[in-house]
Amino acid sequence: MTELTIDPGIAPRRRVAEMKEYHPPLGCRDALRLDFNENTIACSPKVRAVLGGISAGDLTRYPEREPVEALMAAHLGLEAAQVALTNGVDEAIHVLFEAFLDAGDELLLPVPTYTMYEVYASATDARMVRVQAGGDLQFPVEELLAAITAKTRVIAIANPNSPAGSTATREQLLEIATRAPHAVVLVDEAYYHFHGETVVDLVGKASNLMVARTFSKAYGLAGLRLGMLAGPLDLMRWVRRVLSPYSVNSLALACLPAALEDSEYLDWYVSEVLSARSEFEAVLDEAQVRRWPSHANFVLVEIGARHKEFVQLMNAAGVLVRDRSSDPGCDGKVRITIGTRQQMKQAAEALRTTLKALRAQGDAQ
Ligand code: PMP
Repeated sequence: MTELTIDPGIAPRRRVAEMKEYHPPLGCRDALRLDFNENTIACSPKVRAVLGGISAGDLTRYPEREPVEALMAAHLGLEAAQVALTNGVDEAIHVLFEAFLDAGDELLLPVPTYTMYEVYASATDARMVRVQAGGDLQFPVEELLAAITAKTRVIAIANPNSPAGSTATREQLLEIATRAPHAVVLVDEAYYHFHGETVVDLVGKASNLMVARTFSKAYGLAGLRLGMLAGPLDLMRWVRRVLSPYSVNSLALACLPAALEDSEYLDWYVSEVLSARSEFEAVLDEAQVRRWPSHANFVLVEIGARHKEFVQLMNAAGVLVRDRSSDPGCDGKVRITIGTRQQMKQAAEALRTTLKALRAQGDAQ
């Protein structure tokens, strides 16, 4: 019998060998999860009803995405071929980078921003060019325009951006697309519903503009992994070559029509979060905690040198929040997801207790 041997010399591509594994922090079931920017309560009851009606046959068959893609496209006022459903926006980012980023290319990223752009980019042979936002963490449009070179192949902009909740205007995005006609400009509208401004209507009109949306945030379906990427046909055909035909599963496909249809639920959730955000911002102001103006379902706050203790104490008080200190330009900053008004009252209580404890310790030192 031949012995099975493992060749120790089998190595991944150089760029993969240099990557670190990315592990999001573990959630804790019985705490209030304000650390992932998810919907903090539930999806539409109509979506849950669809899930309850899933049959064995629905699961034995491979998923068919095209009819649902056509529905998504119609919802956005686009042609079916301009829209691809994806396994969350994460897959949209992954396939887009796989399709366009080659050795010698540059990916332009305003930072701080969503972590997964860097993760997926580091698996390609392209070079990352980071454009740092100033202390106000506003969109660094002039610096970004100045960083465009002949090698720029993709520019990825989250709008609103995480972790600060800042935005780029439609004019700024158009200016970038115009000044980089040789690059794909990805506008990631994961938090669109909390902001209300979009460039999706420009898909197909600007030759290099692509837009991503997700069902993970306002729709409350992060667990289903459902997102979409829209772009001009000339770009979408390359994306489709790398996209797995079955990466969006049958449950997600079955739920999408009900999620889109129940605009009443979506509107209610968004307005609840926006009211909760104003109330929580007032609490932060009263507690003299610096915050950045946010257009999304989270707020970034300045905690300072004791950010780790702050996160631990909030956690001990039953509220999970996310330390963003290792993001570029974010030392001492913590991001807090906004949930319902009721939940944010609990968060405000935890915040007061935590700050009191920290400040008392500070005085004692
Ligand atoms: N884009 C941004 C800006 C995000 O913050 C997130 C999630 N945190 C995503 C994309 C990922 O979305 P999805 O769950 O659809 O992969």
